[in-house]
Amino acid sequence: MTGDTCGFDGVPGSLIAALRHLATTPQLTVALDFDGVLAPLVDRPGEARGDDRSLRAISDLVALSGTTVVLVSGRSLDSLRAVSGSPDKVLLVGSHGAEYDLGEGNAGISITNEEKRALTELRRAMHDVLERHPNARLEDKPAGCALHTRGLAPDAAHAAQRDASRTVGQRVPGVTHRAGKDVLEFSVVSATKGDAMQRLRLHTSATAMLYAGDDVTDEDAFAALEIGDVSVKVGEGATVADHRVHGTVEVSQMLRVLAADRRNHLLGA
Ligand SMILES: [Mg+2]
Repeated sequence: MTGDTCGFDGVPGSLIAALRHLATTPQLTVALDFDGVLAPLVDRPGEARGDDRSLRAISDLVALSGTTVVLVSGRSLDSLRAVSGSPDKVLLVGSHGAEYDLGEGNAGISITNEEKRALTELRRAMHDVLERHPNARLEDKPAGCALHTRGLAPDAAHAAQRDASRTVGQRVPGVTHRAGKDVLEFSVVSATKGDAMQRLRLHTSATAMLYAGDDVTDEDAFAALEIGDVSVKVGEGATVADHRVHGTVEVSQMLRVLAADRRNHLLGA
């Protein structure tokens, strides 16, 4: 942290204390949502970039022994890889826990033939919706589709989302719906970020985990945490998380505190 003149006023004292304790766990897993947590929200998802200070703190963390960092996003793995700018050692979970790249050459998704058929029909249905709401944007994902309405007038966004819900409900019943910030997602796989946290806990043999997220879909991850873990809600909104910070700047402060504490603990300082 030499040369770092920024303060850490945005990190509440209770969270600093929790991080200090977390830093002493034998096997630490730091799991982070990307959009709205590492990267400020932007209108065009392809232009999102992680905060430089957060990315440096992540590089510091993954260089330490017994420390794993994972990005857990609603983006597809390909999209997450393209924007994350994170070191190779960072593990990736995409599509809300339907896609994994755990650094073992096993990246990808497995879906059944029935789910493949549902996916084809879902894509057809969503393209029909887009014809009726051309200012909305459609994002194809490996296991579903996302309708983006960021930048639309509230009435137009609401109409597009309602049309999508009704159309998909009629034509592809049983598909999972997820509402996020200016986005409505449909998936033929019902995985959540909570499932991802359980898998990551086992995969990394974590003795304690941190999760930070800003959206409603992150609540599943918070709910999957256990005693001794640390949950951090970023921004406004109801949450089951134990701590809250304001935005991406405060996330970078939090990560720098954790990286410094972890390094000091491992060095026996
Ligand atoms: Mg987010």
